Amino acid sequence: MSRLVFRCPNTANFIDAGVDTDRQSLAAALSDAMRVYCPYCREHHELPIREAILEDPAA
Ligand SMILES: [Zn+2]
Repeated sequence: MSRLVFRCPNTANFIDAGVDTDRQSLAAALSDAMRVYCPYCREHHELPIREAILEDPAA
């Protein structure tokens, strides 16, 4: 499993979505969006799954 990470649209910081997923699950949800709490802006961002990054814990 990899960690789902988003990029903050305002500050360009990486936001850990707190979700573990894999490439197959991610590919199936590419047209969806996800509400993620951003600690940098201190608000939620509605971010498209297709812009998410998979962070491999082994990397
Ligand atoms: Zn933000």
